[in-house]
Amino acid sequence: MSWETVIGLEIHAQLATDSKIFSASSTAYGAEPNKQASIIDLGMPGVLPVLNEKAVAMAVKFGLAIDAEIAPRSVFARKNYFYPDLPKGYQISQFELPIVGLGKLEIELESGQKKVIGVTRAHLEEDAGKSLHEDFDGMTGIDLNRAGTPLLEIVSEPEMANAKEAVAYMKKIHSLVRYLGICDGNMQEGSFRCDANVSVRPAGQEEFGTRAEIKNINSFRFVERAINHEVNRQIDLIEDGGTVVQETRLYDPDRDETRSMRSKEEANDYRYFPDPDLLPVEITPEFLSQMREQLPELPEQKKQRFIEQYSLSEYDASALTSNRATAEYYEEAIKLEATDPKLTANWVMGELSAALNEHNLDIESSPVSAELFATLVKRIEDQTLSGKLAKEVFEYMWQGEGDADTIIEKRGLKQITDSGALEEIIVGILKDSPDQVAQFKAGNDKIIGFFVGKVMQQTKGKANPVQVNELLQKLLQA
Ligand code: ADP
Ligand code: MG
Repeated sequence: MSWETVIGLEIHAQLATDSKIFSASSTAYGAEPNKQASIIDLGMPGVLPVLNEKAVAMAVKFGLAIDAEIAPRSVFARKNYFYPDLPKGYQISQFELPIVGLGKLEIELESGQKKVIGVTRAHLEEDAGKSLHEDFDGMTGIDLNRAGTPLLEIVSEPEMANAKEAVAYMKKIHSLVRYLGICDGNMQEGSFRCDANVSVRPAGQEEFGTRAEIKNINSFRFVERAINHEVNRQIDLIEDGGTVVQETRLYDPDRDETRSMRSKEEANDYRYFPDPDLLPVEITPEFLSQMREQLPELPEQKKQRFIEQYSLSEYDASALTSNRATAEYYEEAIKLEATDPKLTANWVMGELSAALNEHNLDIESSPVSAELFATLVKRIEDQTLSGKLAKEVFEYMWQGEGDADTIIEKRGLKQITDSGALEEIIVGILKDSPDQVAQFKAGNDKIIGFFVGKVMQQTKGKANPVQVNELLQKLLQA
């Protein structure tokens, strides 16, 4: 029997406001436990929440960026449940009337095809606190610094058909919220995380299967693995005659498995009701157009512009614009030294990306600034450096030795392009290798590699390879 998978994601993006959604407490990460929890975050009797307008502005920008309907009037609701990290006994969220309605987002599949994924809704809510299980022996600590931190919960339609699509969608949202400047996207700190709803059904069946929800996944790699694991679990279960129950599961990356946490609660278990302490949020047309004006160039627009303005392929433009900081770095580098866009793109996505990956750094903290990087590309372009020498220069640049010219000078890494000097070296080599010359004359073209190797050896890799090849052909034919 063949199976189809259905996936819907609920993404929680922490909004990048300085203060909390209903209080003036700081949202800065990493403070000592309970230093940033005010009486409002704790829901002490008699206190009143006041909505942070910045959080509203950010939610609206997100809605505009995914072509969604922005609700002219949305309502905060209390979601009631008990948990030690929720001293109020309820979370303020939005339920029936969310601020952002139906929107959409285009993802690229591995095949290169595009697919539109619907975004059902996005609503504002406050985060809960955090239980600290590790720090106390035999006890659990509670840190309420995170209580009241603004979140945008972005709910997708059940429209992804496999783990790869889910990852592509999650990456697209991640890129978008960072472009918009509404979320720092830091997944390690929990600023961007997702719940994956997964079900399977016999291929061709219209009706959805029963889903399980995998909670709080905070890396792209884990999303992929957790979904694949869950799909296999469900298929095995059904094929063995069992049935999937609707439940909440937890992914354990160490064991690469999902475990049941609790049976799934239904919306009515929460006894949602409008929060009497908060007025409905009204979005005026003026506010909406103000937000529209503040939207930055979005990833898709930037990509199209890169294709047109710099004659880049779709693939290159996609890679360069997948995050805003990379796109800005790239454009800055081109502008500074007016280097060739394609050459610059190759080096940004090649050497620079590789080094950043290796050292696990974001481009924002690259030790090689766009300014320095531009000096390197310039010297590749004017052939002062061969590709090989440029890699060496890059290495020194990464270690903080300055711009390309300084390094070339100091390290004597200039490419030899003086054809007179190169010719002299080649003539010497040909004289010393009569056997190989004879082989070439007898039709063994591949032997040319032997001569190139000799030239590079003698010049310590500094000869311009294109020139070496041309000169070799010329002198060997002679
Ligand atoms: P809840 O409020 O209980 O979490 P929702 O109906 O709001 O449930 O759906 C939450 C998420 O689950 C959405 O992203 C939705 O697309 C997804 N979803 C709903 N039904 C299924 C299903 N049968 N299989 C996979 N995903 C589903
Ligand atoms: Mg849910």
